[in-house]
Amino acid sequence: MSTSIPKIVVLGAGYAGLTTAKRLTKQLTAEQAEIVLVNKHNYHYETTWLHEVAAGTINPNQARVMISDVVSPNRVRLVYDSVVKINKDEKRVVLENSEIEYDYLVVALGFESNDFGIKGMAEHAFAIEDIDSSRLISEHIEYQFAKYNNEENVSEESLNILVGGAGFTGIEFVGELAQKVPELCKKYDIDRSKVRIINVEAAPSILPMFDKELVDYAKKSLEDRGVELKIGAAISEATPEGFVVGDDKELIKAGTIVWTGGVKASSVLGESGFELVKGKVNVNSDLRPEGVEDMFVIGDCSWVWNKEADRPYPSTAQLAMQEADVVAANLKALITNQPVEEFVFSDKGTVASLGHSDGIGNVMSGYKLSGKSAAAMKKVVDNRSLFLLGGAKLVLKKGKFRPF
Ligand code: FAD
Ligand code: NAD
Repeated sequence: MSTSIPKIVVLGAGYAGLTTAKRLTKQLTAEQAEIVLVNKHNYHYETTWLHEVAAGTINPNQARVMISDVVSPNRVRLVYDSVVKINKDEKRVVLENSEIEYDYLVVALGFESNDFGIKGMAEHAFAIEDIDSSRLISEHIEYQFAKYNNEENVSEESLNILVGGAGFTGIEFVGELAQKVPELCKKYDIDRSKVRIINVEAAPSILPMFDKELVDYAKKSLEDRGVELKIGAAISEATPEGFVVGDDKELIKAGTIVWTGGVKASSVLGESGFELVKGKVNVNSDLRPEGVEDMFVIGDCSWVWNKEADRPYPSTAQLAMQEADVVAANLKALITNQPVEEFVFSDKGTVASLGHSDGIGNVMSGYKLSGKSAAAMKKVVDNRSLFLLGGAKLVLKKGKFRPF
């Protein structure tokens, strides 16, 4: 070890990293371990609210909180810098502006959009990845509306918003757009019929993790509010004008195109030589990669196997925060020469929002919800996660007080 007190370095202050740092401050005294938290920005953002920032239904500042309001800088050394590379052999992390050594490392750098190499996607489509990329989308959409009645030769399609992928992110995003677009139409004197919100999905259904009854509810809710769902149509290319879709290669044109077709681990992992399976690192049930003693990889950077279902758990904030609890306990175990524990996921259910006052969900072992009750449950889940992260203070500070 580099010093007499072991140094734990946590990379990323999302749900996984920030919760780990917070739990470590409870598990270990300053004499037992030095804790360092590295994050690109001095704020933590609620990734689970980014579709709302992207649609412009909430302000970016509502979705972020200063990291120093959640963990004490007196106990955790906060380093605001970007991780460039992890050098496992030298136990060293290269940052944009410095380097940092570790005895134990927690990699929690989150996700990046995965375009699966689709031609033109990286160049022409927006992605919902963080505060900045999400704010860019809402500002771009608003600009399309602002210029429509003020510039000559503006195409009819410039007001269209085209979303690729109808998983959770795509559906939650178009749910927000269904709410936002009428507001923008009113603000900029544009007839609602001039704006198309189109969601394209390759699979035969939207939201395949929900049963048919809930999927049908979601489809009807969105279609009733003017969202066009184009199902069973794969996007093969993105161009400056739109997406090329389906077997007949139809070009659907739009002034705003957003890719929500999937995610992968932070590219830092691939660039650092980690073995990736479907874009993420496989970890054992103690949350370490096979054969690695001093490093945990958690949150959207890794796959943890669900033995009962014989597939990995889907990556969620809920999973990331539960993993963080176990990582903090396991770091204490390693430092105090105790056996590490196995991660067991406790599923609290899943809710997908369809705008601020509608949604669908499965909670409490199969109990189904739709409509306002699902939207209310989503708010409860959001506030629970804020509470677990930063206690009542954070819920009060960031709780979303919205009328239903
Ligand atoms: P993140 O929350 O993405 O945090 C990663 C952190 O690392 C960030 O602070 C980032 O700034 C930092 N970082 C990244 N790269 C670097 C770098 N190179 N150097 C330094 N710092 C870096 N899950 C749910 O359970 N419920 C939901 O309702 C839900 N809704 C969602 C809605 C949307 C729009 C999206 C995109 C996801 C949603 N999810 C939801 C999934 C959930 O948000 C993720 O599973 C969760 O954010 C993973 O947490 P994480 O800590 O691994 O990563
Ligand atoms: P996803 O992988 O869940 O969904 C992507 C969708 O895009 C899929 O339905 C896929 O069939 C479709 N797609 C892929 N390639 C396509 C193509 N070429 N053409 C058309 N469609 C294509 O990704 P996501 O929605 O970004 O979610 C990422 C992760 O975040 C998931 O693990 C999810 O569970 C989680 N998440 C959870 C919530 C929630 O719990 N409320 C909300 C958002 C995200």
